[in-house]
Amino acid sequence: MLHCLRSAADQVHSFMCFPQADFLYSAFEKEGVYTVKSGYKAICKEENLVEASVSNSAATRNLWSGIWKLKCPGKIKHFLWRACTNCLPTKANLLKRKVVTDSFCHMCGRCEETTMHALWSCEAIKLVWCNDFSWVNQFEAAQGDFLDLVDRLMSRPHMLELFAAIAWHIWLHRNKTKLGVHTVPLGMIRDAACKFLQIFKQSHDYPSSRNRHNRDDDKDGCLQNRVSIK
Ligand SMILES: [Zn+2]
Repeated sequence: MLHCLRSAADQVHSFMCFPQADFLYSAFEKEGVYTVKSGYKAICKEENLVEASVSNSAATRNLWSGIWKLKCPGKIKHFLWRACTNCLPTKANLLKRKVVTDSFCHMCGRCEETTMHALWSCEAIKLVWCNDFSWVNQFEAAQGDFLDLVDRLMSRPHMLELFAAIAWHIWLHRNKTKLGVHTVPLGMIRDAACKFLQIFKQSHDYPSSRNRHNRDDDKDGCLQNRVSIK
């Protein structure tokens, strides 16, 4: 399934947005401007086999369906989708497009800033994840990419909601610090994400997360670091 998802993600990545331009960039047009025609051509080119096309579409639908069901703001779902499909303007992606001259992580300055690194594996943000996601096997996570990680979390939607909210705040922190704008310190991002979700769920009259955690997570042995949404 991951293979299909990744293929679909690669396809979506062909239409990634440039951060410095307000238009869709298509790798399949000489001028780089997306049109319905170029989109159709790209899909036909990428999907020569009907069977592959169907399976990729199904995988894409499953991924989006899983994200869409999350009880969190639409902008966070959209962010998670972009991260899963490698459409965030990380420095690794920008270097491929020759927008920047290096791909070093803005936070640690040592590693290539891929989506996985920027949102999960960078040493500078480890403290943000340690409270609630220590149960994710770090070794296994290090072997895969961001899509692998989200795929693992799909089995626990309530944790994926918190994961997505934290990742969104990390990305916001990264962007604001690059611009020299005041932002939530890394040490407070986890609580800010919890509060963000809490306010959203209260305003949408969703069931208490605490009650759901008590019901669902006992069997997972994850209670010691539960989300403190009341
Ligand atoms: Zn880093």
